[in-house]
Amino acid sequence: MKDEVKPETDDLNSSLIPHPSSLVLVDSHAHIDGEEFDVDRDEVIARAREAGVVAILNVGTGDPQSGTLERAVKVAEHYEGVYAAVGVHPHDARLFDERAAKRVNELAMSSERVIAWGEIGLDYHYDNSPREVQRDVFARQLRMARELKLPVIIHSREADEDTVEILRAEWEGADRGGIMHCFGGGYAMAASVLELGFMISFAGNVTFKKAGALRDVARRIPLERLLIETDCPFLTPVPFRGRRNEPARVVETARCLAELHGVGTEEFGRTTTINFQRFFKLPILEQ
Ligand SMILES: [Zn+2]
Ligand SMILES: [Zn+2]
Repeated sequence: MKDEVKPETDDLNSSLIPHPSSLVLVDSHAHIDGEEFDVDRDEVIARAREAGVVAILNVGTGDPQSGTLERAVKVAEHYEGVYAAVGVHPHDARLFDERAAKRVNELAMSSERVIAWGEIGLDYHYDNSPREVQRDVFARQLRMARELKLPVIIHSREADEDTVEILRAEWEGADRGGIMHCFGGGYAMAASVLELGFMISFAGNVTFKKAGALRDVARRIPLERLLIETDCPFLTPVPFRGRRNEPARVVETARCLAELHGVGTEEFGRTTTINFQRFFKLPILEQ
């Protein structure tokens, strides 16, 4: 059940390109391979395209032995403009054994659509895996990604200090960069990862009424280091909170951050799209 994707179609409309909207946007972190999207994935992609979303990075998560990571890659291969990241989420760190390591490593090299290793990191909010295990598995996956020269997608929740410490130990001087996804830390954390050369990606939670402190941090991140994401189906931005999130909604986060930076939404969308294509070395827009 878990490694099934919708049947293949040759529908050219499933392509994200070309886009009729004057906006161009990238959803740098989404989970559109999940069951939540099984009923209407084609429509979700079509709506994203209409909203101007020219690329989506679909991040595989879950038990590495269950086939969900393979499913994430399959979905990316099915739609033009959709890419994939594979890795073992800190929630599932306890499931990371030799067999899983081999499987993720092979999958990371299996397709040109796989452009990053992740999401990996530490989650001390849920503590679904013991912290010591999370730290070991995080460090180990950083070394594996580094070996393959793949960028990394980092998930860090209530673990800022340990995340930065492990990144400094394992990623300093790496050939490729990283993205701190769904940023929720303070400015000190942001400054530390900027120093490491990371990009910082904000999700819909930056639009929440009570997120004033996070908006203050977002305002201070240089435009050329910013990315935007939905983390869908989670974190639906205002004014759609409470509903399933989807890539088209990334425009709400763009609007919010554009305002914080005193630029128009179109300019902000274009800048973050160029940031994404430069970071991943992808040909999306002509510059
Ligand atoms: Zn995450
Ligand atoms: Zn995620």
